[in-house]
Formats: sequence, C-alpha cells, structure tokens
Amino acid sequence: DAFTRDYFSSQTERTFALMKPESLKHLGNIVEEIYSRGFEITKAKMCLLSEAQAKEFYKEHEDKSFFLGLIYRTLVRHMSSEPVLAMELMGKDAIKAWRREIGPTDVEVAKKEAPSSLRSLFGINKTQNGFHGSDSLESAQRELQIFFPSDTSLGKKAPRTSATFVNCTCCI
Ligand code: UDP
Repeated sequence: DAFTRDYFSSQTERTFALMKPESLKHLGNIVEEIYSRGFEITKAKMCLLSEAQAKEFYKEHEDKSFFLGLIYRTLVRHMSSEPVLAMELMGKDAIKAWRREIGPTDVEVAKKEAPSSLRSLFGINKTQNGFHGSDSLESAQRELQIFFPSDTSLGKKAPRTSATFVNCTCCI
C-alpha cells in the first residue's frame, strides 16, 4: 500500500516547516497547497514564541552579517509577535522539495522568479515571507526536535506517527 511504499522508499523524508504569523490567516488555503504539492502534514502545533525562543530557533544564522543589527531584531520580534504554526511534513525529498515550494527568501524575487511559490502567493516582504523550511537534514532534525521534542524517531525512514494538533503557547 502507499504507506509501505513510502516507508521503504529512501526518498521519503521528513522536514520541518513553519507558517509565520502573516500566513496563518490563509491557513485553509495553505493546507490545501501543502497536500496538492505532494506533502502530508504529519504533525502540527500552534506556538507563540518568546523572543528567546525565536533567537534560539535562528541561532545557526547568528553569525551571518544580515543578522547583526536591525534585521535580526526585526525578524526575532516578528517571529515572537503572534502565533506561528510549526509542522512536520513528509514527502519525497521533503527537505529540498519544501524549500523549492516556498521559493526565494525575498517575496519580490519570488514573485518574479517563482510566481507559483508559496512565498510569492502568501508572503508580504523579505522578513514577513510567510514560511520557513529547513535547509538540510541536520537542520530538519534540530528544528523538529525543538518543536516536537517528545518524538525520538526523526530523520529519513522515520516511522509514521499519527498527526497531532496541539494548541500550545509554551511549546519550546
Ligand atoms: N531575512 C530578512 N532579511 C534578509 C534575510 C533574511 O528579514 O535580508 C529573514 C527572512 O524572514 C528569512 C529569515 O530571515 O526567512 C531567515 O533567513 P535565511 O537566509 O535563512 O532565509 P530562508 O532560508 O528562510 O529563505
């Protein structure tokens, strides 16, 4: 069956995806987009991040020059201003595929170069670009562990678990 095929396919992968505050009002449409673009939502959790949690989430970028100063503070404030929806997505080559589906960081670039990407469709600007997606297997594992810490079955070929929807304002 489809589950067995997925489970044993080396290309079936899990990734961490996040809907940033500005995209939550389009939740219904975005859930449809996620499925029609070939992913399954295997976990989801609504979270209101503290500034410290937002900083921890973006800590692997803290040495990048754009994170020094105003943009970093703006991003952290934005990410902790209103709830976000953290998700685990499963699909073929999910890590790369989800990055491709969200498109370029800057919404203006996304609109020009990837008009059907999710950031082009639902993002507002370079900071409020609607979505996050893990950029590597290591990032996916780290980020899934942050948001879904009780799950020890991370990474490729992880067994499927039932989807959980938990309202949570202090999840990490
Ligand atoms: N960001 C920003 N200005 C920039 C670059 C990035 O506001 O010049 C924000 C944006 O919200 C982005 C996040 O910082 O999604 C993380 O940056 P990264 O370079 O990791 O982009 P991503 O991988 O999310 O496309």
